[in-house]
Amino acid sequence: MYEIAGRLKRLPPYLFAEIDRIKKKAKEEGRDIIDLGVGDPDTPTPMHIIEQLYKAARDPENHRYAMDMGLLRLREAIARWYKRRFNVDLDPETEVLPLLGSKEGIAHIPLAFINHGDEVLIPDPCYPPYKSGTILAGGVPYLMPLLAENDFLPDLEKIDYQVAKRAKIMFLNYPNNPTGATATEGFFRKALDFANENNIIICHDAAYSEMSYDGYRPSSFLEIEGAKDAGVEFHSLSKTYNMTGWRLGFVCGNKDIISALRTVKSNIDSGVFQAVQFAGIIALEGEQQHIDELNIMYQKRRDVLVDGLNGLGWKIDKPKATFYVWIPVPPGYTSNELTKSLLEKADIVTTPGIGFGPNGEGYIRMALTVSEERLKEAVDRIKRLHK
Ligand SMILES: *Cc1c(COP(=O)(O)O)cnc(C)c1O
Repeated sequence: MYEIAGRLKRLPPYLFAEIDRIKKKAKEEGRDIIDLGVGDPDTPTPMHIIEQLYKAARDPENHRYAMDMGLLRLREAIARWYKRRFNVDLDPETEVLPLLGSKEGIAHIPLAFINHGDEVLIPDPCYPPYKSGTILAGGVPYLMPLLAENDFLPDLEKIDYQVAKRAKIMFLNYPNNPTGATATEGFFRKALDFANENNIIICHDAAYSEMSYDGYRPSSFLEIEGAKDAGVEFHSLSKTYNMTGWRLGFVCGNKDIISALRTVKSNIDSGVFQAVQFAGIIALEGEQQHIDELNIMYQKRRDVLVDGLNGLGWKIDKPKATFYVWIPVPPGYTSNELTKSLLEKADIVTTPGIGFGPNGEGYIRMALTVSEERLKEAVDRIKRLHK
């Protein structure tokens, strides 16, 4: 039949196939599944954002092709948000670019800089598009282990000297999916020095900058002096405003990097539906109260799950940010085996760490995207397994 391209064959194997099969079967059998697998908020988009979409969708002006660089008003709203939130100054004309969700920009940016065989520094474990975007662009992922002993920060000194010299892009992501780890400004400064020494572009993914607990407030990579000379930061409205389905994100920072990404995008897509852009302006500029409320909700869920499992003798650290709990697998299981066992014996869906990269082995990820009651039920079901 038709032979698929080498670049598709080089993509990492899809490791969730077996889990998906068992999950589908369990659903068909009518079993009561608790799905802690996906990182997708379970509560709705705030109503004022929906109202704005409705209003903007009725205006024929918004039915036409959007400009690929997005509405100036949206770019200005993003720049103002950055100023308010991080005290970072951005030029809305050149240093801000809306995206069809941040995944889109993350997956496309290697096309702007990577030639065949170029290396890209990628955290391991990681959000999969860093790796797949690199491979689709003909690049070669070089994995930087994220280990518990280093607080899930890459050890930049361990990066092969030759690779560092050759590499063009480094992806970073804090607060981190899947580990829930956070980064200090000191780490960002070290990463910036490393990037400057080796002429590497830093692509920092800050999708979870607004989702944090216990009074902790994540900082932006762009807050570091000189960061704008060496990198960009990806953001998303998906998690902050419960807008995963709407597809609206943005990238900010170095204007030359952004301009190159814009060239890629102008050849592939035609921008974000303008009604969604207007809704995005309202999201960024309207009331932000619900963000605190969501964080209180997730924090309570986190405590129910982690305290509950630790009460059974598990050894789980509470994440200060993100809605993921990164759980060390008890001895005697691989991450795949534990995920399979939880699904078959307790009807609980989790994600095996190995699916995020080789150093995800030894962990499973649970997402706090179901109610406290359901999390209590999950803990009870696991308790019964212990007997
Ligand atoms: C959810 C998530 C995103 C956001 O993706 P969108 O395409 O904006 O919905 C980006 N990065 C990470 C690490 C995520 O988990």
